[in-house]
Amino acid sequence: MTDLHRLSIRELAEGLSQAKFSSRELTEHYLKRIAKLDSQVKSYVTVTPEQALVEADTADAALKAGNATALTGIPLAHKDIFCTKGIKTTAGSKILDNFISPYDATVVEKTKAAGLVTLGKVNMDEFAMGSTSESSYVGATSNPWALDHVPGGSSGGSAAAVAADLAPFATGTDTGGSIRQPASFCGLTGLKPTYGRVSRFGIIAYASSLDQAGPMARSAEDCAYLMNVIAGHDAKDSTSVKKEVDDYVTNLSNTSVKGLRIGIPKQYFNVVGLDADVKARVEESLKKLEEMGATLVEIDLNMTEAYVPTYYLIAPAEASSNLSRYDGVRYGHRCENPADLMDLYKRSRSEGFGPEVQRRILIGTYALSAGYYDAYYVKAQKVRRLIQQDFLKAFENVDVIAAPSAPTTAYKIGANLSPTEMYLGDIYTLAVNLAGLPAINAPVGFDKDSLPVGLQLIGNYWSESQLLSIVHQYQQNTDWHTKRAAIAEENA
Ligand code: GLN
Repeated sequence: MTDLHRLSIRELAEGLSQAKFSSRELTEHYLKRIAKLDSQVKSYVTVTPEQALVEADTADAALKAGNATALTGIPLAHKDIFCTKGIKTTAGSKILDNFISPYDATVVEKTKAAGLVTLGKVNMDEFAMGSTSESSYVGATSNPWALDHVPGGSSGGSAAAVAADLAPFATGTDTGGSIRQPASFCGLTGLKPTYGRVSRFGIIAYASSLDQAGPMARSAEDCAYLMNVIAGHDAKDSTSVKKEVDDYVTNLSNTSVKGLRIGIPKQYFNVVGLDADVKARVEESLKKLEEMGATLVEIDLNMTEAYVPTYYLIAPAEASSNLSRYDGVRYGHRCENPADLMDLYKRSRSEGFGPEVQRRILIGTYALSAGYYDAYYVKAQKVRRLIQQDFLKAFENVDVIAAPSAPTTAYKIGANLSPTEMYLGDIYTLAVNLAGLPAINAPVGFDKDSLPVGLQLIGNYWSESQLLSIVHQYQQNTDWHTKRAAIAEENA
């Protein structure tokens, strides 16, 4: 079978349970594709073929014995920010180049328990700080739609692997857009769940009050399957919430688009830098939803201008604290021949962290320092609350809020945007994390250069089922999510 990579998660599950193919065949199929095609995409940091085949054989045995889960035997890739026992976890940083975790992240543990097969670990911006995946110490990943373009970031490896059909689906994390923006740049569906829905245990921390893991896949249906596995309370993460988990797959047809009130924030569609093609494709997708029975309601989100400054204070502040643990003593990169302890800290950190990570540590340390704490950090926290209240007020009148996921399509590799230019590209995604809300990206067409455009739908707390369901119905009525990049069409 040469076209196993064209099957959806549901089709893969059916094929495995009806023994049309085995998990070993399926896993070998993907490993072959990775071996042949990933030299062009460079989505994987580490491929784990031996372990994957062992897991596949175990899955085949479970399938035969009749004690398989819905997903037993299906392969996936993990962002290299999830700790994986016995397999290197780098978070895209030289400082963790030699780090092998002694335990699995809860998300990884859950995918293993569900019988999923890990193909390997995929590339990302260093410590998830970035929007292009270029800041990874192993180098840039390519966008499967145009190999000289970035896949977005920070979960760029996850997006590129799925868009090139080098994994059926993948995990990602989203602190300020890192699932939604790469999904948008690569023509995929990606869900950032409500803060607390998925355990953060074993995910290398960037900004703990914003970090959240979620699925990246071709369709809302594929995402729903992965959400069923990874969502839920975890005693090892005190911010994960004890709340019943929906059956996201069963709920896919539960929300009616008929009568759905979609909020269109006035401020969002007048943003300087919003690309005309992106705007047009997003508006067309909204028109489609309107045809399907939704009502578009103009709303105000008055705090829009505050999103970028607020996030780029709070996230670096938390990062400066989280990253203080990398000191060259217990694990990670250590400089050669340190003169004394100070020299060891200084040089290990200067050599181990890339420029963007260093910039954020400096900004964060400054914002938290005595004398500036009230003026910057405390003020940002207050503004964060106002941003959240803005959304809650909007949700009194609408069910979901629509926006682009990013103001542009993918950048060229090496475009070398200034930090502020880069940060402004996050305008549509940051507020969702600041407020802790769930949001989803769905592919809705292409720009003049044939690069994918994404629509973002933001929901109220715990509305993951609703978001997946709306996108699922949109995808039943359109075919953008079925389009494949040329490299995905190639056979191994
Ligand atoms: N691009 C944003 C940043 O650089 C978001 C990253 C993320 O969500 N991890 O911080």
